[in-house]
Amino acid sequence: MENLDITIKLLKEECKKYKNPIVTEIADLTQSPFKVLISCLLSLRTKDAVTTLASKRLFEKADSPEKLLNLDIQSIEKLIYPVGFYKTKAKRLKVICKDLIEIHNGKVPDNEQDLLKLKGVGRKTMGIVMCYAFGKNDHIPVDSHVHEISNRIGWVKTKTPNETEIALTKIIPKKYWHDLNDLLVNYGQNICVPVSPYCSKCKINKYCKKVNVKYSR
Ligand code: SF4
Repeated sequence: MENLDITIKLLKEECKKYKNPIVTEIADLTQSPFKVLISCLLSLRTKDAVTTLASKRLFEKADSPEKLLNLDIQSIEKLIYPVGFYKTKAKRLKVICKDLIEIHNGKVPDNEQDLLKLKGVGRKTMGIVMCYAFGKNDHIPVDSHVHEISNRIGWVKTKTPNETEIALTKIIPKKYWHDLNDLLVNYGQNICVPVSPYCSKCKINKYCKKVNVKYSR
């Protein structure tokens, strides 16, 4: 694709200025697939600052499936509040930990099929765990930032994150798959924000079609 290499190079340079998204930060700091999986689930529909504190509180009490399963639902709710849907997530974490212990010997599985069978784990979370907990290069995890920015730039023309994932895997060279989520989430949190992106100071402005961008700063 025209200008893809230069666009990604510029994005990488720009993103060095900003803090990593929380889930990749936890992956780098802890090297723990369990913590990556749990923090990724907590981060759904939740701001990074909130996920950071909730993950910290939770992992101080429970840093393994066994310890988390031993907590009662109300204690988990209290620890993770105010992440989005904290009541649903507290119940889900218990079910996941039970399955990890009973089916996977207390370990997070390192394959797509088994991860997708865990309660509440969709393609994005599966891809994040595969990329950032296990260092695999076979997925492009697509969240709202990846979906929106890929469409704004004009790389893809898609309606849903699942369509975006399929489209991106057809046009993005595999050498970029591992880092793409991290990169676009970072860019989406700082420059290409969901409402009124900062196009005037965007380093990839001239390579971006700005599809559906009505207001920018
Ligand atoms: S030019 Fe605007 S819409 Fe395009 S990537 Fe940059 S900030 Fe986003």
